[in-house]
Amino acid sequence: MHATGLRCAECAWRGPLELTYICPKCGGSLEVTYDYTAVDVASVTAAVKAHRSVWSFKELLPVRAEEYIVTMDEGGTPLRQSRAIANELGVSLFYKDETRNPTLSFKDRPNTVGISVAREMGYDTIAIASTGNGAASLSAYAAHCDMACNVFIPVNTPSGKLVQTLYHGANVIRVPGNYSASFRVAHERCGKEDWANLTSTYINPYTMEGDKTIGYEIFGALEENTPDWIVVPLGAGPMLSGIYKSFEELRTLGLCDKLPRMLGVQAEGCAPIIDAFLRGDDAVRPWLYTETVADAIADPLTGYERDGSRTARAIRRSGGYGVKLSDKKILNYVNKLARQEGIFTEPASAASVAAVADAMEQGVIRRGESVVSIITAHGLKAAEELLKLSEAQA
Ligand SMILES: *Cc1c(COP(=O)(O)O)cnc(C)c1O
Ligand SMILES: [Zn+2]
Repeated sequence: MHATGLRCAECAWRGPLELTYICPKCGGSLEVTYDYTAVDVASVTAAVKAHRSVWSFKELLPVRAEEYIVTMDEGGTPLRQSRAIANELGVSLFYKDETRNPTLSFKDRPNTVGISVAREMGYDTIAIASTGNGAASLSAYAAHCDMACNVFIPVNTPSGKLVQTLYHGANVIRVPGNYSASFRVAHERCGKEDWANLTSTYINPYTMEGDKTIGYEIFGALEENTPDWIVVPLGAGPMLSGIYKSFEELRTLGLCDKLPRMLGVQAEGCAPIIDAFLRGDDAVRPWLYTETVADAIADPLTGYERDGSRTARAIRRSGGYGVKLSDKKILNYVNKLARQEGIFTEPASAASVAAVADAMEQGVIRRGESVVSIITAHGLKAAEELLKLSEAQA
């Protein structure tokens, strides 16, 4: 373990490896730093080649003692080559199939790292504000290591995600309003009760380190090649920033020389980050009224707009782009993935494939380029909602 401390994503502040949520100097979000000269490059190379699990990359993860690691064999998910949709679009398209994680979403990656760090730091109770997948995941990890878990979720959280959370025995607090209301209440309670906050924005500086492992695995599965584009649906965006960080690290270690361009995706009914990116100033304004079938990425960012700005800057740094999609386009790709590729995924995840079509129409992604779309969660997460829609179509 070669993590050296925390640094602010916006100013020059640096601090020790503690559970600090925001920069004491400027209020910005934080990030873990490493001593890359101390990293065992041979071990990272072997882990990249095998791309087998999150913790095989422990050289680049922030846990000191292995005894604190809480794992359910997350990561090591397949990179599946698209035939039907790739042929239609004329690109080389791959799906990073995150539905194959223990609780059926990629959130197992940030949570396995976040809960392990919290345990190592001596916390016995954890909490999360979530649109559902993060809560379902964290409550499973808490059950697995016998920690107390409090989840703050919007009242209208889909039943598929709620039922997982309830059965894993978390204490569920349903908060009226949109996701940002849950975020605020969770943050306040964590401060009062000394619970470790694992909310999957940038507020916990350690969880993004788990997201990072998606990038190492993509690089390994492509036989140590960087794709031209990686397409990521955005809540606040730590998954996108984490994936980009993984390639920057591989470059620092001398293992790769090309960085991917990041394509960020939001729904038209909640697109604070894409709007800021397309305006050109990256200064995110909170979204007032969220309305989309892609509930997992409906984050209005009210009260933590700077998180969205951080994501917009990462997209820009990568030479990437942003698209926002109508619910109609997103649902079209839920159907296409299910019927043409055998992949059943929830709307937020299908957005990462619908976005490829959209970016090609705009001339952003070109024919023949290589593209990886992150299939972030399973379709059964939205069983009730998708069943209603299919009955309405029939
Ligand atoms: C959380 C989530 C996202 C967004 O990831 P962030 O890191 O929060 O931006 C995308 N898709 C699904 C299914 C999610 O649960
Ligand atoms: Zn700062």
